[in-house]
Parts: sequence; structure tokens; C-alpha cells
Amino acid sequence: MKNPNIVIIGAGYGGIMTAVKLQKSLGANDANITLVNKHSYHYQTTWLHENAAGTLHHDRTRIAIKDVVDTSKVNFIQDTVTDIKAADKKVILEDGELAYDYLVIGLGFESATFGIPGLKEHAYTINSINSSRLIRQHIEYNFAKYNNEPEKQQKRLNIVVGGAGFTGIEFVGELANRIPELCKEYDVPRDKVRIINVEAAPTALPGFDPELVEYAMNSLEARGVEFKIGAMIKEVTENKLVFEKDEQREEIDTNTVVWAAGVRGNSLVEEAGFEANRGRIPVRKDLRPEGYDDVFIVGDCALIMNEETERPYPPTAQIAIQEAEHTAKNLARLVKGEDHLEPFKPNIQGTVASLGHNDAIGVVFDDKKLFGWSATAMKKVIDNRYLLKLGGLPLVLKKGKLNFFNF
Ligand code: FAD
Ligand code: NAD
Repeated sequence: MKNPNIVIIGAGYGGIMTAVKLQKSLGANDANITLVNKHSYHYQTTWLHENAAGTLHHDRTRIAIKDVVDTSKVNFIQDTVTDIKAADKKVILEDGELAYDYLVIGLGFESATFGIPGLKEHAYTINSINSSRLIRQHIEYNFAKYNNEPEKQQKRLNIVVGGAGFTGIEFVGELANRIPELCKEYDVPRDKVRIINVEAAPTALPGFDPELVEYAMNSLEARGVEFKIGAMIKEVTENKLVFEKDEQREEIDTNTVVWAAGVRGNSLVEEAGFEANRGRIPVRKDLRPEGYDDVFIVGDCALIMNEETERPYPPTAQIAIQEAEHTAKNLARLVKGEDHLEPFKPNIQGTVASLGHNDAIGVVFDDKKLFGWSATAMKKVIDNRYLLKLGGLPLVLKKGKLNFFNF
């Protein structure tokens, strides 16, 4: 029998970890493994808010795929997937097509804009290296422009962040640290700059531990972040954001709206005909969608249910990595002729969110709360552990966060 073709699309956490695990568990003559990704690099999405704020250069966040994938075992193709023809077992690329026996979909997330007028056209999003670099440069441009116009325009210095979920909170934490540096660099008085975080729910970080939420808000407010809580964003224009709070319509003049108020799975997967639930594809316990025994979905495109809460697990890197490791084992079983696949159960080890490089909050080991330095250190341990799994000690030394006393 010919070697099966395993095609992995997307080299985010889910896709690249599947490839790296398969290259270890399968010999070069067991299967033809192909990894397809838009760029020649993998990026750590969990660091993009730092790139967007300008507190970390994007070269630290991206990792050349050829540095971690053994190209004698995995054929890497840099291309963009445009369609998946599951009935024909084919993936269509901008520049060709690939036939598969087994497909792993790891195309990640995109922003959910909920049909809010003007968002797609005027808001910035933290989705990729390119979109994050654009935010950094856009903010810097507005600072530079501020002192070069006959009339000072406050909208250049009003930065509005939509959503105080983890992405919104982590981003304003970075901004709070970056703005004083930008003020010095561009001769802008600090008290002229506003960072405004607008959240529709009655609290920031809805559903998270209230004591930690209070700690986070105090830490951020002390560094100049303003919160508008219970405020639903209704519209964005080129230089204005409209929200509704207590049934009143309010407006903020701004050139910079960063939308961090929700994600959905890559729409290409839904458009390819897989049945989606709010943009994510429900999968069986072995991570295959109903009716497709040759397709696995890992990461943010997959929807898996938490049976205890009867709600979907939130899309996280933590789960994407575990799904990838699990899928690689199941694929190795199939390639070796076994037909029994193991069910996947996430092992949630906690949640830690940064509030800039010098503060953080978290809950780990079920209910241990962390604040300040211990949470910051834990976040770095989590990040370095991922790099260790992906590329061993050399990658940790090259890209890791090793300064545990950076205050
Ligand atoms: P992604 O990481 O989105 O990667 C998808 C890959 O597919 C990318 O390489 C992309 O270029 C490629 N791709 C997309 N479309 C195509 C195409 N058409 N053709 C070819 N390639 C394509 N989770 C945590 O657990 N902990 C955290 O601390 C955390 N922090 C976060 C911080 C931020 C700012 C954000 C935005 C998210 C954070 N998350 C965190 C969530 C986490 O990043 C996601 O759950 C995770 O990235 C999902 O991984 P993935 O493999 O599904 O896809
Ligand atoms: P989210 O869905 O978790 O949060 C979005 C927030 O935006 C919510 O609080 C929601 O109430 C608010 N919102 C929605 N519509 C709004 C509107 N019209 N106006 C104002 N507010 C509105 O999305 P996210 O923060 O981008 O996170 C996406 C995923 O990534 C989640 O699963 C999250 O857990 C994960 N993540 C984890 C970390 C971490 O572990 N440190 C960091 C970032 C993201």
C-alpha cells in the first residue's frame, strides 16, 4: 500500500505542533507529510498584543518554520489555502492543489465583527504579525503627526480598545507601558493621551475571578487606562467610535479603534461546507467533524464542548497545542494500521493574563490565584515551556522570555 498523504493546513499552534510531533513519531517512509502556511514563519499569537503596542519587536514573535520543522520528513509549502474540497479529498492553494488521505485543519481564528457598522472598514485587529505591526505603526504615525499640524487634533491621541476580554486587557496593559515612551519620543504631553477600554458586559473579563478582575482594573487605571463598562460598541467610523451605555448614545473622537471583542474560526472552513456553530466546527471526541473520517480539526477552528458546564471550551493556545499532540498520536495510529482512535479531553492547567511586562493575574492548579510578579513569572514559564516543546532548548534561548526580573 502506498504511503498515506497527510496534509496539515495552517502553522499556528495547532498545525505546527501536529507537524513537529508527527515528524518525531513517524519515519520518513511511513507517510508523506505536507505542511502548508501563508508565511514562511510560525508566529506566537499569544504575543501579538505586545507587537501591536510596540513593547516587543515582531521578530521575537515569529519563528522560521524551517528552524523547527525537519524538512527531510515534512514537506513545507508556503502558500495560501483558498478552498477545501473534502468530497474530492483535495486542498486548493493559490498556486496549485494537494490531494490528501488525511487532512489536519489548523487555520486559526479571525475577528468576529457581529455586523457592527464600520468595524471591518475602520477598526484595527490583533490577528497576525502584519495586522499587529500596522497597529504599532498607525499609533506612532498619529503621535508623529500630532505636533505637525496647525491645529492639534485630540482624536490622534485617543486610543480606543473594543472589548475587555483577555485580548483587550492584555493589549491595554502593554499600551499603558508604551505610551509614556511614545510621549517622550514624540514630544507629546502624557496627560493628552487617552487609552479607553470599552466593554459591553457589566464587568471587565466577564466570568473570571472577581478579585483578580479588580486587581487588574486597579493596576491598569493606575497607569492611565479608562474603562467604559456596560458600554456596547454600536458603530465605528474613520474618526469616531459610537457606544451605548445606560441607554444613552455616546461618541469618542478617535483615529484608532482596536477591535478585541471576539473571535471566530477561519471562515474558509465554514465556506468549504463543514457545518459550523458560530464560526467553529463541532468535532467528535477524536477531533474529526461528523461525517468526515479523514479530517481532523485542531485549534480555534474546532468547537469542543465542556461536558461539565455544557458550554464550548474557549478557543485558546493551550487547547490548540493539546489537540495537536493528541491528533499526531491518533494519526500515527491510523498510519500504523490501527483503527482505534483515543478520545481527546483537555487538561486545563489555568489561565494567566499579562497586564504589561511588569504585572499579571492568573488562576493555576484549579484555584490558586496569582498576582503581580508570581503571575508574570508564571506567564513566562508557560511561554518558554511551549518553545521548549516546539524547538527544544535552542529555541528557548533564541526566542524565550528569560528575564524574570524585568520591572
Ligand atoms: P492560529 O494561531 O490563529 O494560527 C493559524 C495559522 O494559520 C497562522 O499561521 C496563519 O498564518 C495560518 N493561516 C490562516 N489562514 C491561512 C490560509 N488561508 N492559508 C494558509 N495559512 C493560513 N491563548 C492562550 O491559551 N493563552 C494566552 O495567553 C493567549 N493569549 C492571546 C493573546 C492574544 C493577543 C490573542 C489574539 C489570542 C491569545 N490566545 C491565548 C488565544 C490563542 O492565541 C489562540 O487560541 C491560538 O492562536 C489558536 O491557535 P491555532 O493553531 O488555531 O491558530
Ligand atoms: P473574548 O470573546 O474572550 O472577549 C471579548 C470581549 O468583548 C467580551 O468581554 C465581550 O463582552 C466584549 N464585547 C463583545 N462585543 C462587544 C461590543 N459590541 N462592545 C463592547 N464590548 C464587546 O475575546 P478575546 O479577548 O479576543 O479572546 C479570544 C480567546 O482567546 C478567548 O478564548 C480567550 O480566553 C483567549 N485569550 C486568552 C488569553 C490568556 O489566556 N492570557 C489572552 C488573550 C486571549
